[in-house]
Amino acid sequence: RVTVVGSFNVDHVWTAAALPRPGETLAGRYHSGPGGKGFNQAVASARAGASTSFVCALGADSGGQLARALAVADGIDLRDQPSDAPTGTAGIFVGSDGANSIVIGPGANAAMTPSFVDAQRAAMAESAVVLVQLESPVASITRALQLAGEAGATRMLNPAPANVEVPTELLALADLLTPNETEFAALLRRHGGDEVDAASLAALNDELLHTHCRRLLPHGTVVVTLGAAGCFVSHAPQDLRGDGLQHYRVAGEAAQAIDTTGAGDAFNGALAAALARDAQRPFAQQVKFANRYAAMSTENAGAAAAMPRLADVIGRFGG
Ligand code: ADP
Repeated sequence: RVTVVGSFNVDHVWTAAALPRPGETLAGRYHSGPGGKGFNQAVASARAGASTSFVCALGADSGGQLARALAVADGIDLRDQPSDAPTGTAGIFVGSDGANSIVIGPGANAAMTPSFVDAQRAAMAESAVVLVQLESPVASITRALQLAGEAGATRMLNPAPANVEVPTELLALADLLTPNETEFAALLRRHGGDEVDAASLAALNDELLHTHCRRLLPHGTVVVTLGAAGCFVSHAPQDLRGDGLQHYRVAGEAAQAIDTTGAGDAFNGALAAALARDAQRPFAQQVKFANRYAAMSTENAGAAAAMPRLADVIGRFGG
């Protein structure tokens, strides 16, 4: 089982010829759909074949009802803390060139309490992997990783979004850290004392990347996702998961990408599911599956809605 502790948002998306300037009113196309990093990752985990629990906070409104209906549709064991605040929302403007501006209303997500997470102890105890992100209160996700540690589960921290600071105590609780390039640069700035340029990270040599990863998470595994280029993996010296290798790249898979929103969420959910389903497989193969899964997610529009199913991934790439 995988337990994801995190956010649910209703995404409201307007696509117009350009982004609106201050004071300007534009007409454009509108659609809405489910999102939130936590929910996206839970849907990816469930569709990638793992029994999945999702711990979140929801308002008593149509957004909360949507979350419940979608969880049922994907067979997700939903454990929601009822909140007086509205369900989380994101207002997203997209210009014709694909650039976007986003405002998030965390709403109920910001109200998830450590004691509610405590009450989900039973789900954690049954889980091989507990996966958290930073769209929920840091105290609550810290509690989740503490409980996961007590239960012997793999503690997976996706340090997203990049503008939320990761306290040292939280970092210390992670067995597996999965930043994208921007998040990796932000973590190094705060915890590694190094100034690196996110845009040129993928071009750094592997030894240097490995050194950065080791400084950031001396005891655990770091997987830096590199967009279409796939990812870089760095293991601790004592970690046997690397099959003798301490660091390596796993190339991305070719995709006809039309919407890369949620690619990182697809990757995280799929990696958690792969680890929970077959912990004995070499780590590089688990990451390869996550790359395949995430590549396919970019070929569909939307966030949670874009997540492919295991059968489709196997049909495309083999088992
Ligand atoms: P984020 O979505 O958080 O910015 P990345 O852009 O690093 O994260 O993407 C996460 C993963 O999604 C990558 O490691 C890769 O497996 C996959 N991916 C992203 N963009 C593409 C693409 N254009 N083609 C193929 N795979 C992609």
